[in-house]
Amino acid sequence: MSVLDEFESIRQQFPILDQQIHGHPLVYLDSAATSQKPESVIEAESEFYRTINAGVHRGAHELAARSTVAFEESRAKIARLVNANAQEGEEEIVFTAGATASLNLLATAFGNASLGQGGAAAQRFALHAGDEIVVSKAEHHSVLLPFQELAQRTGATLKWFDLDDEGRVLADTASTVITAQTKVVAITHVGNTTGAITNIAPIVKRAHEVGAIVVLDACQSVPHLAVDFHALDVDFAAWSAHKMYGPTGVGFLYGKRELLEALPPANFGGSMVELAFMDKPAQYMAPPARFEAGTQPVAQIVAAGVAADWLMNIGMERVEAHEAMITRELLKLGEVEGVRILGPNSPEQRIGTVAFDVAGVHPHDVGQFIDAQGIAIRVGHHCAQPVHRHFGVFASNRASSAVYNSPQEAQQLVDAVAGVRAFFRVK
Ligand code: PMP
Repeated sequence: MSVLDEFESIRQQFPILDQQIHGHPLVYLDSAATSQKPESVIEAESEFYRTINAGVHRGAHELAARSTVAFEESRAKIARLVNANAQEGEEEIVFTAGATASLNLLATAFGNASLGQGGAAAQRFALHAGDEIVVSKAEHHSVLLPFQELAQRTGATLKWFDLDDEGRVLADTASTVITAQTKVVAITHVGNTTGAITNIAPIVKRAHEVGAIVVLDACQSVPHLAVDFHALDVDFAAWSAHKMYGPTGVGFLYGKRELLEALPPANFGGSMVELAFMDKPAQYMAPPARFEAGTQPVAQIVAAGVAADWLMNIGMERVEAHEAMITRELLKLGEVEGVRILGPNSPEQRIGTVAFDVAGVHPHDVGQFIDAQGIAIRVGHHCAQPVHRHFGVFASNRASSAVYNSPQEAQQLVDAVAGVRAFFRVK
């Protein structure tokens, strides 16, 4: 059974989609920015506050115990979604405040290792002058900036993969871009502007040949594709709950267990320390607690687990197949006169996140014109300025799909975009 066969029942689970915008039924095509949430996720958050709210991993009372169970069950659900370890003592998922927080946590921890923190085991993460950090021109600023800053702090050199004309990372240049000096490769799995799926395998292979750590930005892959971090063999991965039908304020850091065990902490405070003293250094807890300083957003984390379950219940293969159908409709934007797609023009090796330029019309004007018809798309640089520069534009329009979109909604967008240039009297 395809998603389309049960589309109405899926769609009805999203209360926000059942409304009129400027007198038209809402067509939400901005899920790459943030996805909408099914009723079960919204309900899980308030149900937590109604029935179990208490701090986790502390306190002898029953609510604290229930809260801890719900919190750790959520970790196991998230792990299952991406094929990570979840058994106690083997956990490979760390909760953070979002993908940006996960990436900053890593960059800070690598920086701390470079200062000698974490002892000999952490030296595998240390960077010094002469070392290289490799990213790509397709990165979101949340990858580019933490690792650019890390390079500046440690004296390492920042290098990057170039892109082809359609914005794909030139993965077959891995053997020249990644060298014996490369210590970290931080790369996007799916471009948030191009929608292109990076051919990760040759990059991971080459990085591991030279002993470099691979950090994957999985923000735009986990919600749309079946992703298996063990199979991809990446060392770390970061993504956010709010783009995968979960709440805001929660993100995830995946790390291979042996690496998490060697990684020094980045944030310090309560709940991450075994022993604290006035006159000597503290002894930190094992992962994941070592990286989860402070009170966690437990209600949101529990709801994020419900979102992961919700996705797994549909099945990622079915999600992929449904969104591929929408991608094919969205790519018809490229047939509209004056419209250029900033990403692969063919549906293979891409997702339904389609950025486009309308010749002679500013993206903000396009966005408003489309919005007047009840259709929500994103305009701007999508926190990815270098990739826009690659295409010779400062900003673009971006339509992005989710499993609750129908192919008809994509057609509606294409029809609306077809009217833009005439409306603005562009010749
Ligand atoms: N990377 C990519 C590819 C993204 O799309 C985003 C969100 N726009 C981020 C990183 C940052 O995620 P967040 O804002 O949820 O921290």
